[in-house]
Amino acid sequence: MDAVGTELPMATVTIKDDVIVAVEAVDTPGGVTARGGASPPDRDATLDGRDATRPELGATVREIDATGHLLMPGLVNGHFHSSANHLKGSLDSLPLEIFMLFETPADGVRDDPRAAYVSTLLGAVEMLKSGVTSVLDDAFFVPAPTPSAIDAIMQAYADSGMRATVALDQPNVPEIAKLPFLEQSLPPDLLERARAPAAMDAAGLLECYRHLIERWHGAADGRLRAAVSCSAPQRVTVDYFHALDALSRSDNLPFFVHILETKLQRVLGEEKFAGSLVRYVDGLGLLSERMNVIHAVWVDEHDMDLLAASGAVVAHNPISNLRLGSGVMPFRALKDRGIPICLGSDEAITDDSINMWNVAKLAGLVHNLNGGDYARWPKAAEILQCLIEGGARALRLPKPIGQVAVGHQADLILLDLDTLPFTPLNDLKRQLVYCEQGGSVRMTFVAGRVVYENGTVIGVDEKALRAEAREVAARRAAADASEANGAARWLPYYRDMYMQAANRQFGMQRWLGNS
Ligand SMILES: [Zn+2]
Repeated sequence: MDAVGTELPMATVTIKDDVIVAVEAVDTPGGVTARGGASPPDRDATLDGRDATRPELGATVREIDATGHLLMPGLVNGHFHSSANHLKGSLDSLPLEIFMLFETPADGVRDDPRAAYVSTLLGAVEMLKSGVTSVLDDAFFVPAPTPSAIDAIMQAYADSGMRATVALDQPNVPEIAKLPFLEQSLPPDLLERARAPAAMDAAGLLECYRHLIERWHGAADGRLRAAVSCSAPQRVTVDYFHALDALSRSDNLPFFVHILETKLQRVLGEEKFAGSLVRYVDGLGLLSERMNVIHAVWVDEHDMDLLAASGAVVAHNPISNLRLGSGVMPFRALKDRGIPICLGSDEAITDDSINMWNVAKLAGLVHNLNGGDYARWPKAAEILQCLIEGGARALRLPKPIGQVAVGHQADLILLDLDTLPFTPLNDLKRQLVYCEQGGSVRMTFVAGRVVYENGTVIGVDEKALRAEAREVAARRAAADASEANGAARWLPYYRDMYMQAANRQFGMQRWLGNS
């Protein structure tokens, strides 16, 4: 997994501080040496590792004999909302617009920074244990972000050892502006509430960004970084959208934007936004290579041409898209245009396991249903490229990750190959995509530090964390239940809106079958 896809049967990889400084092939008994001829590694050490003072190197060195293991780059979760980490399994599958009605009241970080900390750490632990070393987190806050809630999330990532790039996913327009048809259908009292201003205006949100960037961008030895997010084009004012773009440009930050996740959003574009939300963003001059375009399911050919010309990365979340019945992203049509794709789990209530191996497997399978020409089906190697290289591109880090290669940051994982997913070993890449589910991960390194080994995320008392997560959930349950009842009042109008959009015919189909 270097620039040319080299696979070495055995190698010595040297990490100094946070960077890989040497990758030397080692002769294997009866094996192939793909590169060079270095000495065999010291076999005294085991995967348990040991520290040794090596005067000739002038430093304390830990040697790990990883014989029988695969060393590969860590996985990148290219789209995530930590704010829902505690909600796994909370809802049956529902379309996005109905789902959001019931999800919002249950949001757990309302004025409770400790709950946000616990919830964020819970997700980070789950990811690190399965070999995810980086996450792009589009964190949302109900009703609005506060410095203490932002600090809680960032501190959790700092303590976890994970690499995280975090944005504030927050609308600044009334609910009514984000959806079609409701203006005509809602009764007067609900209409008035739907027209109420957003909880925080652009100035307040930009103040929160200032806090995020000044306090946390580059913190924890560069592991933590800021991104910007408009949530979605229909959820923000044009002025705020431009202000976020300026912020993104000045610090070269990734810019998260959900675009055309659902058919209803396609219809919304036709009704209110230049015929298509992609064309709307392009018309504002805001499509750029800094953009992380999330979902891109209901894009048409022209939309995809615009995305390709912009250099934006598309974040593909196939399990979320299936969980919410959103549709199937046109993977091959995007790839044909050279659009970089990363993979994401989306939030833990739309892909409840936060497991990027499962995301990769579905990404590797679901597009086989998009047409009869099997030459266009995804290959395992392409999916791994999305998972690692696509994710690295989306992160826009100053130092590269995503390869076991000199000069790359040591965000690496060790997988035990003496496990059922790899027995017998027929094809490494296919078995990574179609067999592995995270259970073979034995060690996780982020920026050269061991952050997970022997079943433990270093510095985290997981048992205590799980206990506290249960306590937080219990104290929130009563309040959430009463608010969920409130959501039921809106349901008939949202259902009508959804069905009206679902029944609209246009020359595009991203759903499968008829029943
Ligand atoms: Zn999302």
